[in-house]
Amino acid sequence: MGICQVQKISELVPVNGVNNNQNKTTSFPTQSYIPNINQYSSPNENNNNELDRKIKPYQGYNNGVNPTTNIIQNPTPLNKNITPQPPNQLLNNPQINQMENAINKLKQQNEDFKVTLEANKKLLNEQTNAKMKLQKDLLTSSQNMETLLLQQNDLKEQIHLLLIENNQLKLNINQTQIELEQKAQALNALQIKYDEIAPILVGLDNIGATCYMNATLQSLSNVPQLTNFFLHKFSPNDPKKRMSNEYYQVVKCLWSKKYNGKSYAPHSFKNVLSQMNPLFQGVAANDSKDLINFLIETLHSELNMPKNKNTTNNIIDPSIQLDEVKMFNIFLSNMVSEYNSIISDLFYGVLETQSKCINCQRIKYNFQIYSFIEFPLEQVYNYCISTTPGGSYISNGIPSIDIYKCFEHYHQLTPMVGDNKIYCNECRNEYDAFYGTCLYSLPRYLIINLNRGKNAVFKCNVKFPELLKLTNYVRYTEGKTIFQLNSVICHYGESNMGGHFIAYCRHYKNNSWYIYNDSTVQKCNSNKDYLHGMPYILFYKALDDDDY
Ligand SMILES: [Zn+2]
Repeated sequence: MGICQVQKISELVPVNGVNNNQNKTTSFPTQSYIPNINQYSSPNENNNNELDRKIKPYQGYNNGVNPTTNIIQNPTPLNKNITPQPPNQLLNNPQINQMENAINKLKQQNEDFKVTLEANKKLLNEQTNAKMKLQKDLLTSSQNMETLLLQQNDLKEQIHLLLIENNQLKLNINQTQIELEQKAQALNALQIKYDEIAPILVGLDNIGATCYMNATLQSLSNVPQLTNFFLHKFSPNDPKKRMSNEYYQVVKCLWSKKYNGKSYAPHSFKNVLSQMNPLFQGVAANDSKDLINFLIETLHSELNMPKNKNTTNNIIDPSIQLDEVKMFNIFLSNMVSEYNSIISDLFYGVLETQSKCINCQRIKYNFQIYSFIEFPLEQVYNYCISTTPGGSYISNGIPSIDIYKCFEHYHQLTPMVGDNKIYCNECRNEYDAFYGTCLYSLPRYLIINLNRGKNAVFKCNVKFPELLKLTNYVRYTEGKTIFQLNSVICHYGESNMGGHFIAYCRHYKNNSWYIYNDSTVQKCNSNKDYLHGMPYILFYKALDDDDY
């Protein structure tokens, strides 16, 4: 059966009523009409024909013949294979009826197919749109994802850089910490070093003509061994040691950081001093020399701790004439036993007295303790003039002598005649004699008083060196004979009693000189500022062998 008949009949049969055909069993495999999306960029009405051509034909219908294709592309003349029949014959021809029925059926199927095709087209469009939308979304999402990935990488990179920076900062902090600790240690070491050499300077208030007392206390306070004893070895618990307890309180303040750069008022010390010695009562100006003598004597008696001694060996029988050295050794042995204090250790030397009988020429030796040498300047001056008539002992219009002349004069034998005759044990009678004193041994601190006579009337310059060499002026030369100036108490004004006393002291911590003028303490401009005043009392300390 030719397809041409279908075309023929379709022209004769109206299309109307096609939808009434209920034979719609044909099902379309929908998936067969889903276009290849790659071939469609814009599925719209204009592309319907194109779409039609590309749609795979419905399989299983009409033995695989695509009716549409045949209808459009292969029109066949209707009369080619059909033999014309008379109308009646045509109408009654069952063959024709059958064909018409088949045609109708095909028409109906074609209509159904068209409807389905339209539905599929619509569906396809929807799906295509949906797919486009999904694609677009996917693209957007991909772009977003890509952006996010880039951002993530950026963040990772930033985190990485921050971590590196953080590590570097940690290293820097550690380094800074180490440097900080090193600097703190260095600072601490400097502070300790500074404290070691920094002088503590405390003034003493003048509490009523007490400059003599202040100058004396400052001079003694600048004897390091004495101060060290009171600060570290003395216990102010014994009420019997009144002077020592008071001196301890003063020294404690003079070396206290609390008072450093300030001043302290030694009321308690002054009160006890006045109670113990009427010479220092009231507000009458006094003499440093008297106070030093009193303090040394009193402090020694309070602090002295005599040792047990073998008395039998040390008693000197006056009837037996012993040589000088033996006499000294016995005296020294007694002295070591009897004099055992920080005061005797620092300030006590041995003085020898000699008396030579004119009658028998024998020399009698005697020994005694001394803590103080007094040089009567006027006598020394006269001695200089008498012994060296051609010498010049006037400078700037006033007498001027050297301190070594004082020592020379000190050792002169004095004729003891007339009423001053001396009793001789050998001759058992009084005879004219020569009497003299000499320094047998020297203390660790030699205190020298330059006595200018009553009310300091004798104006005299005394040259004294910073290093005093006494090898030629001491009998016992095995001890220390070179001394260094440590303090000078100067007197200002016409009278010892009415003038002003100032102490110049070498500070043991930095070896610099300071001027202690009552409540003020100042560093000296030069090491010989004390020469501007009138030197009255000199403190010399023995140098150890390794000091020079
Ligand atoms: Zn004699």
